[in-house]
Amino acid sequence: LSVGVPKEVYPGERRVAVTPANVVVLLKKGYSKVLVERGAGAEADFLDEAYTKAGATLVDGPQSIWSQADIVLKVRGPALEEVEHIKEGQTIISLLQPAQNKELVQKIADRKATSFAMDMIPRISRAQVFDALSSMANIAGYKAVLEASNVFGRFLTGQVTAAGKIPPCKVLIIGAGVAGLSAIATARRMGAIVRGFDTRPAAKEQVQSLGAEFIEVEIEEDGSGAGGYAKEMSKEFIEAEMKLFKEQAREVDIIITTALIPGKPAPKLIKMDMLDVMKPGSVVVDLAAEAGGNCEATKKGEMTTYNDVKIIGYTDLPSRLPTQSSTLYSNNITKFLLSMAPKEKEFGIDLSDEVVRGAIVTQKGDILPPAPRPPPP
Ligand code: NAD
Repeated sequence: LSVGVPKEVYPGERRVAVTPANVVVLLKKGYSKVLVERGAGAEADFLDEAYTKAGATLVDGPQSIWSQADIVLKVRGPALEEVEHIKEGQTIISLLQPAQNKELVQKIADRKATSFAMDMIPRISRAQVFDALSSMANIAGYKAVLEASNVFGRFLTGQVTAAGKIPPCKVLIIGAGVAGLSAIATARRMGAIVRGFDTRPAAKEQVQSLGAEFIEVEIEEDGSGAGGYAKEMSKEFIEAEMKLFKEQAREVDIIITTALIPGKPAPKLIKMDMLDVMKPGSVVVDLAAEAGGNCEATKKGEMTTYNDVKIIGYTDLPSRLPTQSSTLYSNNITKFLLSMAPKEKEFGIDLSDEVVRGAIVTQKGDILPPAPRPPPP
C-alpha cells in the first residue's frame, strides 16, 4: 500500500499531516511508498531534504499524489479542487468535520472513496493516542496565552525591581476542557494569577491541581453531558455565570474563553457590558470563535478592539505553532492508520471496532450514518 501526503491547500494552513519521523515509521511497517508533495512540510519547518532522508518519494504537485496513493493523509478535509482528483477506492483520513461539511461528504461518496474523520474518533481511553482534537486543543490553549501576552502591555508575572514593584497579571479562563487547562498551565508558568471556571464539577480538581483558583456560582447544576462533554445549561445558571464574569471582568487583565457544547453554537458568555467594565489594555481571546464565539464582540479570524479592550478571534491557533501541531497530528494520524493496517497489504476496516466505526464517514460509495455515541460516564 502507498501513502500520499499532499501540501495543504486551505489558505493560511501551515501544518502538514505527516512528518519525516512518521514516514520512517510507515515504511518500517511495510508500506511500499510514502509519496510527499514537494514543499508539503516547508511551512512547518519540515523540509524536503528531511523527507528524502526519511525515505519518502518526493513528487511535484498534488496530482501525482492523488493519482498514485492508496491512502491520502491530510490535515484539513479535501478542498473542492482536491475532490476532483480522488480516485475510486482511495482512502482519505483528515479532520473532515462531516456534520459541517455534508456537501463535501456527498462528493467524496460520489467518487466512491473511503474517508475517515480524525475529529470523530471516540474519546475513549484506548483511542487517546489518535485524539487529534485533544492534541490541537492543547496547542490552541497554549498559543492563546501567547497571543494575549503579545498584545498585552505588561508582564504576566509579578516582579520586584529597582524601578518599582510590578503586580502579576490576572487571567480568567472560562471552560476548563483540554484547551482551557492548557491555557491555565501556560498562564501559570508565565507567572500570572489564574482563575478557572467550568460547568462540569470534575473540572474543579483539575483547575486547582494546576495552581489556579476555581471560581463557582451558587446554583448547583451539573453541566456534564454525554461522553464527558458539556450539556447546555439552564437560563438561571447562565445568568448567574454571567454575573460572576461581570465581577471578574472589572478585576482581570486577560480572559480566555473556551466554552463549547458539541453540536450547538457556543454559549455567549462575555457581553458588551462586561467589556465596558474591563480595564483599558485588557485582552479577550475567544477560542470558541469558530463555533460562533463566547464573546459578543468577537470577529471570527480577526483581532478587534472595543473600548481599548482587544478581542482575539483567531481560528488558526494550532497552525500558528505549525511544527508542534504537525508533530502531534502526524503521530495521531499515523497511529490511527497503523491501528487499521498494521502490516497487511490490505486495509482492514473492522466496523465492529468502536474507534473505526466512530471515525468512518464514507465507505466506497456509501455514506455511513454517525455511530451511536457512548452514554454518559
Ligand atoms: P470542549 O472543547 O467541548 O469544551 C470546552 C469546555 O467548555 C468544557 O470543559 C465544557 O465543560 C466547557 N463549557 C461548556 N459550556 C460552558 C459554560 N456555559 N460555561 C463554562 N464552561 C462551559 O471540551 P473538551 O476540551 O473537548 O473536553 C471535554 C471533556 O472531555 C473533558 O472532560 C475532557 O477531559 C474530556 N476528554 C476526554 C478524552 C479521553 O478520554 N480520551 C479526551 C479529551 C477530552
